[in-house]
Amino acid sequence: MRADLSAVYGHAPIWAQHLLCSAEGLRLRRLRFPARFDARLRAVRERSGWTPAQIAADRLARLRALLVHACARVPYWRDAMTKAGLVPERIAHVDELEALAICTKDTIIREGPRMHASELPHGHALRAIELNTSGTTGAGMHLRASMDAVHEQWAVCWRYRMWHGLAPGTWCGQLGGRVIVPPSQQVPPFHRINWPGRQVLLSSYHLGTTTAEAYIEVLHARGVPWIHGYPSMVATLADAIVERGAQLPAIRWVTVASESLTAAARERIRRAFGLEPREHYAQSEGVANISECPAGRLHIDEDFSVVELIPHGRDHDGVPVYRVIGTSLENYHQPFIRYDTGDLVRLASGCDCGLPGRVIAAIDGRQEDMLVLPSGALVGRADHIFKSFESIREAQIRQGRGGDISILVVPREQWGAGDEQRLRDACSARLGGDLAVTISLVPAIARESSGKLRLVVREGSR
Ligand SMILES: [Zn+2]
Repeated sequence: MRADLSAVYGHAPIWAQHLLCSAEGLRLRRLRFPARFDARLRAVRERSGWTPAQIAADRLARLRALLVHACARVPYWRDAMTKAGLVPERIAHVDELEALAICTKDTIIREGPRMHASELPHGHALRAIELNTSGTTGAGMHLRASMDAVHEQWAVCWRYRMWHGLAPGTWCGQLGGRVIVPPSQQVPPFHRINWPGRQVLLSSYHLGTTTAEAYIEVLHARGVPWIHGYPSMVATLADAIVERGAQLPAIRWVTVASESLTAAARERIRRAFGLEPREHYAQSEGVANISECPAGRLHIDEDFSVVELIPHGRDHDGVPVYRVIGTSLENYHQPFIRYDTGDLVRLASGCDCGLPGRVIAAIDGRQEDMLVLPSGALVGRADHIFKSFESIREAQIRQGRGGDISILVVPREQWGAGDEQRLRDACSARLGGDLAVTISLVPAIARESSGKLRLVVREGSR
């Protein structure tokens, strides 16, 4: 739902919640897949057959146009380009972007409206949407995305799904981060239906050993052919299927996103469904997309954005690790240029599938631990708790062996008296009200040896 479990939705009877999910599904379908979407998808799919030189030339032309616009109409970028001596009209290679300083979530929040375009060039769709995002560091951020950018991202996502034989309109059992079923509901059904979006929305928050049967039943009864969700959640469902000796022969596709897919989770999913899960990496800022190809390798979608991989030390095996920095080519309302996603990747040598793009061995950035509810159910993507908090610079959720939760918060100046209660409420909405929660304001949070801030730390989990 747009606001994760609004008061109206939470108190509505189940039949009305099905209808509200469908109403929201219809709104999202119209927003993401307008009539002209098919033409965009065709154009994006054609680019898969382009040579690297064709992709590079097209990307440079789009980058130049975006930079010319940003320099003329976005105050922050006008100043940054003037200071760096960058004349966007003269850019001859994407490497010249390096003259600009890397921009972070902090920059976006600090500069606020100075990051927005004062007007749009002729021929650009005027519509944009406002989004809230969080990411792995627990800092909330508002952003504005041109509809062209949103449609481009969905087209690139569907291109990847179509590589694997999926077609738009396929029914999907979805295990995501949204609260679909109120935490207070103890008995099935733990799903709601979005008819226009062809989705069986499964509650991640109720999925546990005692409730899994209801999930398997609804997927079986509806003959759902496709499961999509957070890998940790899909793997939990997979375990339940194996434990019960259940079979879901209708399932032909499993796709995962939003967290990295560990080798262990991949194996659990493979065992339960007898097929290979497919992985996709994206973020709301729309600066970098990575898609798994039919040969099972992760390709950077080089035609979607300009992705820079900046060396960031080595992992414990001595393999180089890179930070993912990206520049969106379509977001004219709020250009994201040299934006630090906060995610880390390792490179692979290549892939012989014939598709273009640098090949990634693993995406390490979204390795998040799960929180455990008193019922034994696991909750992933705890970062959603912080989505609407621009008053939080960083946060970390620590869960003790007894289940109690303590949240460390590094506040910004605008942290106010009501924010602590608001954070408690956001926690209850996400995790139910049964866990004891302590909130502490701290000046800083210690980093991992990799330099990454872990959002969730569970005692004894590693
Ligand atoms: Zn490949």
